[in-house]
Amino acid sequence: MYLLDIMAKLIDSEVIIEAASVGVGLGLSGLLNHLCTRGQQLHERVCGAKQVNLSTQLRQAVSSNPEDYQLVAITGKVTSDGDALQSRYATDRTGVISNFVTEEIKEVWGKYSNSCLTANDVSVHVEGGEDSSWTSECLSRVHKEFRESSNSVMGSFVGFVTGDRIKGYADTEKMLLTGTRLLGIGQLFVKGNVLGIRKSPDGDLILTKHSKDDLISMLASKLRMWRILRFLAFGFSLCGLIYFIKRVKVKYSAIVEEQRSQREVEEIRQLRDNPARSQLRNNRNTNGDADGNCVICINNPRECVLLNCGHVCCCVDCFEILPSPKSCPICRGRVNRMVPIFHA
Ligand code: ZN
Ligand code: ZN
Repeated sequence: MYLLDIMAKLIDSEVIIEAASVGVGLGLSGLLNHLCTRGQQLHERVCGAKQVNLSTQLRQAVSSNPEDYQLVAITGKVTSDGDALQSRYATDRTGVISNFVTEEIKEVWGKYSNSCLTANDVSVHVEGGEDSSWTSECLSRVHKEFRESSNSVMGSFVGFVTGDRIKGYADTEKMLLTGTRLLGIGQLFVKGNVLGIRKSPDGDLILTKHSKDDLISMLASKLRMWRILRFLAFGFSLCGLIYFIKRVKVKYSAIVEEQRSQREVEEIRQLRDNPARSQLRNNRNTNGDADGNCVICINNPRECVLLNCGHVCCCVDCFEILPSPKSCPICRGRVNRMVPIFHA
């Protein structure tokens, strides 16, 4: 019951907000830690990918020793396995992946054609290239156009009333163009007489316009940034946590002290109200002279000593109603503790 009482006083909105901010800080540190781990895994994976030159013997080599080609890096130009896709607008451009986006109505058409990486007249079929999270940065913009919307009378009226008129549409076409030189990192495989590359068991198929060395240094600098952010977030959270614990400790002692002083006040009151047991009553000045009484109410005897100044100047009733933080009515010194006095 006593503990519950202290807890109820301890947990106020300030404490909850501080605890929540420490929690958010720790959560952020955890997230950054996760990003660091992911970044490090990716960095190690790219560094560990064996660079393989495309040659006519490759298919034979992959067929006989597939486990040697679990994680390789190949470089080649994008070519099409089947019919290449033609741009809707730039009709001389062909590609293997096409993304056509119309903004405002947010419609996306995705089209995929079989793609290959080709070098030295050897083509490696790319399996699942359209699903790789790396593909989007390999696409080139081949067309962008803004079309003014032709609003009907009804549409104009609705637009006038709601203040929300569609100005027009922006079409953007992006393609993975044939002839683009790409680096692919993944697992080589042979299926039938097709030599292909696909995602390896430990991660996504990487397709990028960067060279392997550039990719490694880019990943390393990204990893460095995540690590610095993780360090900062963790440092701030730790400082926040220490500050929070200190504050709760100070608040806890204040509450315990307040409850102790309240109990003592109660004790003194009971003694005063019970004349048979009261020694405090002897204190009371019965000559009508108020000199020995509480300086505030001039009625009750002086019942306590205020620390640290040591003044004996008031009764416990008046001590209790002193505005906090309590200060001595004589010297204005800060009252850290109140001790009841008993006359023998
Ligand atoms: Zn008083
Ligand atoms: Zn004082």
